[in-house]
Amino acid sequence: PKKKLIAGNWKMNGSIAANDALVRAVIAGMKDAACQVAVCVPAPYLAQVQMLRHGTALELGAQDVSRHEQGAYTGEWSATMLKEFGVRYAIVGHSERRQYHHESDQDVADKAKAALAHGITPIVCVGETLAEREAGQTELVVKRQLAAVIHTNGHCISEIVVAYEPVWAIGTGKTATPEQAQQVHAVLRAQLHAASTRDDRVPILYGGSMNAANAASLLAQPDIDGGLIGGASLKAPDFLQIIAAAR
Ligand code: 13P
Repeated sequence: PKKKLIAGNWKMNGSIAANDALVRAVIAGMKDAACQVAVCVPAPYLAQVQMLRHGTALELGAQDVSRHEQGAYTGEWSATMLKEFGVRYAIVGHSERRQYHHESDQDVADKAKAALAHGITPIVCVGETLAEREAGQTELVVKRQLAAVIHTNGHCISEIVVAYEPVWAIGTGKTATPEQAQQVHAVLRAQLHAASTRDDRVPILYGGSMNAANAASLLAQPDIDGGLIGGASLKAPDFLQIIAAAR
């Protein structure tokens, strides 16, 4: 079986000084990690974190990528640019981008395609809002979100990572129970399996208030292949405890 993946999403947090301390502590503490570890950092800090992680097992990720190759797209950056900084992963379709930047399912699918075209693994986020869950639409919503990515990316779908992030669990301290998460992961697993031509299992991460206390029980679920960690990835001891729970 593939190793689990624990990816930190720093969101819009950090400073040169704070990043230096955090990355050094994470690298020092992850020496015996049984999982893969990545940090998805704000674009201005990619070069800094690339220097700090060079030669270690810590992988680098971005939090977004343009669907365009180059040109007049102010405020965007291309997959080719990310590649120059040793970026391995790019989060696409995080609920904060869908909500605040009105990214559609098709935008997200196109971003995933641009990443894949340049050898960057997109971490495709899907997840329902509280209103959608309460209306019984959880499966409908996550399947619709993933279907766009599958439709646009065809057989390349086996190269992606999916992250199930229930919007109501993000930054709220309200985690999905392991059973709630597993139920959705199983739905996504079946959808990916039906679309994939390879036997390779597409990693499906859970995200949403994952922390040192709840990580082990979430990661013990059969279809949870890792975590996408927001707040707890900003504190080295917490992030390292989650890493230690991923085996
Ligand atoms: P929190 O871990 O802070 O809830 O954030 C989850 C998330 O959105 C990761 O992408």
